[in-house]
Amino acid sequence: MTTVDIPASVGRFAVTSEAFMPWHDARHWIGGAWRHPLTARATLDIHNPRHGKAMARVHLGGADDVDAAVRAGAAAQRIWSEWPIRDRAHVLYRLRELMVRNIDELSWLVSHENGKIFSEAKAEVEKGIECVEYGCSLPNLAAGNQLEVSRGVACEVAYAPLGVVAGVTPFNFPLMVPLWMLPQALVGGNAFVMKPSERVPLSTMRLAEMLKEAGLPDGVFNIVQGGRDVVEALCDHPQVKAFGFVGSTKVAKAVYGRASLAGKRALCLGGAKNHLFVVPDADVEVTAENVVASFTGCAGQRCMAASVLLAVGDVDHILKAVRDRAANMVTGKDIGPVTTQAARDRIKGYVDAAEQAGASIVLDGRNASADAGGYWVGPTIIDGCTPEMPAAREEIFGPVLSVVRVPTLERAFEIEGANPYGNASSVYTTSGDIARRVMSRVEAGMCGVNIGVPVPREPFGFGGWNDSCFGAGNITGWDGYRFWTRQRKITSKWALQRDQNWMS
Ligand code: NAD
Repeated sequence: MTTVDIPASVGRFAVTSEAFMPWHDARHWIGGAWRHPLTARATLDIHNPRHGKAMARVHLGGADDVDAAVRAGAAAQRIWSEWPIRDRAHVLYRLRELMVRNIDELSWLVSHENGKIFSEAKAEVEKGIECVEYGCSLPNLAAGNQLEVSRGVACEVAYAPLGVVAGVTPFNFPLMVPLWMLPQALVGGNAFVMKPSERVPLSTMRLAEMLKEAGLPDGVFNIVQGGRDVVEALCDHPQVKAFGFVGSTKVAKAVYGRASLAGKRALCLGGAKNHLFVVPDADVEVTAENVVASFTGCAGQRCMAASVLLAVGDVDHILKAVRDRAANMVTGKDIGPVTTQAARDRIKGYVDAAEQAGASIVLDGRNASADAGGYWVGPTIIDGCTPEMPAAREEIFGPVLSVVRVPTLERAFEIEGANPYGNASSVYTTSGDIARRVMSRVEAGMCGVNIGVPVPREPFGFGGWNDSCFGAGNITGWDGYRFWTRQRKITSKWALQRDQNWMS
């Protein structure tokens, strides 16, 4: 049901500064048009975290909207899947051009709805473009295999679409995480129903319009706005064949179970508690720069952010350099706000609890502020944490570094290995031997040597281990293409081979 008061287009996000600006309401995108929910439900304000003011409203959907989007997807997918893969990829070539041309607009939009500073938002858009480029390359990668398995008999493998597939994304990367999923799924010949985080739905909306401008047929990409109800309806809908999720571990685990029970292929990426090993021979400057960038970047709201620093032996000289560098950061300029007031309270709660338990707050960002009304936490370093403290065990998701001092590498391995998460781990050293030992022992899917945010760049796949990922494989790269497609195995024989018994 479309009503007349919805503009045909969300249009450009015209803001080019941090000054507050309201924008468009967030509605569903179904069949290539903006739509109201079929049933009137609650709305939610979308806050610009820098100003703490509502810049838009999201209209929450439900199972009926999911069904409408899936039906639109199913109708469009039949035709889309008949396009040759090269033609499908050409839509992504055009999307790439639109994103490159409008990179500042997209970056400002990400910055406003998420709160991250402009340069971080631009890096996010650039990484999103890289994911689109991977999608462009798929026609060159996705040729199936063929072999003459006996005389005159050939076996062939081809990648076929699944049909209608779905993705659910978190608040911290409003544009990039949707682009972890879309290129492979679309080039693979599927229709997609996306449920962005209800806190940051605006960038995905702009992406929908750009995909249309790039030539994607109506109905191949759909958005249903909302929260838990929409996610559960996507898990349960019999026509949704695969379900990708990125968010916190608690939700990832629950929706993985629900989608799997409903017979879907599911890949659900969860939260993280990333450990950095720092040993005495580490380069002081490289380490300080990297560690600070890792725990403060995007205000610590990255699943790849450094969270626990395992200080092996006497590394006081390095810790001092880390502290000095972080202390020089200017809130509002070098570090943005966190997502909500509730997030700010949660982060401060972890720091308060560690202090009460006897740890030292050697850099305290609890009273930081910049623009009035925003949700600010400055860089914070807690020294002397024990591995049992919540600040050293649980995901804080803020610009907080918990330092745990250990006498040996062996003790560091024990602490890292006992943590249930397994997203990322890094070592800072100038010794190849130590680097190799750490890289071969840590319980983490993505590892770094002298790199604090070891995100595998395209074409390498992104994905963690243990409680950071439910389901098999990575969400980006070739694994992503495998996830969003199924293999058709064809065995052919065109002439009778009289000298063959088997399969004759
Ligand atoms: P979240 O789990 O609260 O929300 C993620 C998505 O799930 C949202 O779209 C939300 O609407 C939906 N959702 C929330 N509660 C739900 C419920 N009970 N049932 C069904 N759906 C529900 O996560 P967030 O706060 O948006 O994002 C931060 C989290 O995401 C952190 O834990 C972070 O580590 C994680 N994350 C992980 C990766 C990764 O690659 N592993 C990447 C980015 C973020």
